[in-house]
Amino acid sequence: AKKAGGAGYHFYASALTERSQQRVRLESDLRRALEAGELALHYQPLVDLRGGRLVGFEALLRWQHPRQGWIAPDTFIPLAEESGLIKPLGDWVLREAFAQACTWHEAGLEFGTIAVNVSPRQLDQDDLPALVRRLLQETGLPPGRVSLELTETAVMGQPERARSALDEIFAQGIELSIDDFGTGYSSLAYLKQLPFGKLKIDRSFVRDIPGDSNDVQITRAIVALGHSLGLRIVAEGVETEAQRDLLLELGCDVAQGYLFDRPVPADEAQQRWLSFAME
Ligand code: C2E
Ligand code: CA
Ligand code: CA
Ligand code: CA
Repeated sequence: AKKAGGAGYHFYASALTERSQQRVRLESDLRRALEAGELALHYQPLVDLRGGRLVGFEALLRWQHPRQGWIAPDTFIPLAEESGLIKPLGDWVLREAFAQACTWHEAGLEFGTIAVNVSPRQLDQDDLPALVRRLLQETGLPPGRVSLELTETAVMGQPERARSALDEIFAQGIELSIDDFGTGYSSLAYLKQLPFGKLKIDRSFVRDIPGDSNDVQITRAIVALGHSLGLRIVAEGVETEAQRDLLLELGCDVAQGYLFDRPVPADEAQQRWLSFAME
């Protein structure tokens, strides 16, 4: 056993080295990707459940790696967060989303609101409200055209600091959404002290409805409680008509998911969702 353990250790150590080398490579690739223009935002529509109309898009980050192809954000955003790259990355995302919103706004296209994901590490930096203010000034965009999404855990981490940053952003007229609700440990009572206007029910609850009665009850409770606190409720990951019908019945306001569309590049989003807007 001891011998095997020794060999196992060597194997483990070299596997670790391999992994960390891969990480370092990916990290420097990511740094370069920012400058090389390999990053893009894709846009997924959000629709009003009652009328079926478009109410906005969520901007989702994509990385086209020259050798590895499309890399999903779940793999490189944690890396960016650990390495501090999230700061330039997050700034880029905000600029890009504002620029897109501005383009559509100036073209007179009714795109609603573009939602941008903000990582907890971006909230730690005290210049997020300043960046948002600058972008609003530079683009001349009405603040209602952009919103920010933060996970529960993002705001639980550093409550005081997060709160003052969020208050400042909210005061500029930007709507804030609680993302992935139900996956963290925050209480709605706590979140209610923060200036959120929207709550997004995590995909994990939506996935198994209407079949899973526990998830139906949880979803029902989140909708009711959220509404009683004055929040608009968005369901993510809606893939079937049965899910949509139940969510509508539960009083959910907005839905997002493959049933309506996948995240697509801006020009495609425009073609599919905005080309009749001027009629
Ligand atoms: P999220 O904010 O919860 O975004 C929703 C995710 O669900 C997206 O994954 C979207 O493609 C996916 N999705 C939407 N509808 C459906 C559906 O019907 N079924 C299924 N199975 N999935 C659906 P994506 O684009 O891979 O992004 C993953 C996560 O990466 C996001 O989760 C968000 O936390 C993070 N992320 C994406 N873009 C950014 C960004 O610009 N900045 C930061 N900080 N995080 C980002
Ligand atoms: Ca989100
Ligand atoms: Ca989410
Ligand atoms: Ca998520």
